[in-house]
Amino acid sequence: MTCPQTSLKTLNTFGLSICAERIVYATNTETLIESWQAHKEKPWLLMGGGSNVLFLDDFEGTVVVNKLTGISVDQTKDDWLIHCAAGENWHDFVQFTIKKGMAGLENLALIPGTVGSAPIQNIGAYGVELKDVCEYVDILDLNRNHSLRLTNAECLFGYRESIFKHQYQQGYVITAVGFRLAKEWQPNLSYGPLKAVETSLTTPQSIFDKVCEIRRSKLPDPAKIGNAGSFFKNPIIPTQDAEVIKLRYPDAPFYPQSEGEVKIAAGWLIDQAGLKGYVANRAGVHPQQALVLINLGHAQPEDLISMAKYVRDTVYKQFAIWLEPEVRFIGRQGEVNAVETLS
Ligand SMILES: Cc1cc2nc3c(=O)[nH]c(=O)nc-3n(C[C@H](O)[C@H](O)[C@H](O)COP(=O)(O)OP(=O)(O)OC[C@H]3O[C@@H](n4cnc5c(N)ncnc54)[C@H](O)[C@@H]3O)c2cc1C
Repeated sequence: MTCPQTSLKTLNTFGLSICAERIVYATNTETLIESWQAHKEKPWLLMGGGSNVLFLDDFEGTVVVNKLTGISVDQTKDDWLIHCAAGENWHDFVQFTIKKGMAGLENLALIPGTVGSAPIQNIGAYGVELKDVCEYVDILDLNRNHSLRLTNAECLFGYRESIFKHQYQQGYVITAVGFRLAKEWQPNLSYGPLKAVETSLTTPQSIFDKVCEIRRSKLPDPAKIGNAGSFFKNPIIPTQDAEVIKLRYPDAPFYPQSEGEVKIAAGWLIDQAGLKGYVANRAGVHPQQALVLINLGHAQPEDLISMAKYVRDTVYKQFAIWLEPEVRFIGRQGEVNAVETLS
């Protein structure tokens, strides 16, 4: 279907040619409420940068693009307190803080999307997660036209998890995020590639630059190759299962979790299954970064779904581990269960 007025092609980083019934750009909360009141009887979806979604079909309802902007900065003796509206671009926000001499977000540079989406899956990279710097999240209850503020603890952050995927999903939007950044800066160089060049990373700006450099060399730019970053989460498995894998693959990358569990790199599993660079129809597994599924140009949703199924089944056959998508699947009527879609 062609839909020049309501195409979502430039609003999802997979670059899929999907249509919505209506697209609304919300620069204030009144527009959010009005649009919800007018169209909530049909599917209604709030979007940021579209960098964590896979549309399975045309969307039979209203897509609202979050354009709430504004940043304000306060401080205590020890900390910077930053309040940022949810529609601000995440990377621009990180850059803003570094330029203003407020360190702490440099490891999270160049992650696509908006500030408001960052708490939803507790974005993380290079040894830092949003939960480490988030003070609070402001949400709007669209049915009651009522705002509430959740503390960091109330957000129930976990690995790619938060309360915003559960209790506060339907009928709520994130309108702003509060950050607390310590004035006494402690670099986090725990992640391998940063550790390797530790001595040259003496300022927040140098870490920011290094993270951008590494990311640009490793990850496909969605402006050139459609993708949504890591397609699958890194599975967390029982330690005894990891021991079995270690016998066959002594170099397998495991990361200790809570007692009795370890995390294993999903990209490594896909690579070991021989799928790096694998191509079928108009979709593929990125040749440098196996965790990233790509649109080879003019892909249809079914090309990416078939690819994701194939990757998931192949990894299961070799390792008896089911990969779970990190990307959110959006059907005609709204979000659908990604695991069920691929089963
Ligand atoms: C190249 C690339 C690299 C990436 N690297 C990383 C990485 O290193 N670490 C990482 O964690 N992620 C990474 N991602 C994933 C993605 O950037 C993050 O998940 C990001 O936070 C998504 O933001 P978005 O605004 O694009 O969300 P969208 O895709 O627009 O939305 C995602 C979901 O959140 C909902 N949503 C969006 N905004 C709101 C709001 N204000 N209130 C309520 N619900 C909302 C949407 O309805 C949807 O269900 C990467 C993606 C790409 C393309």
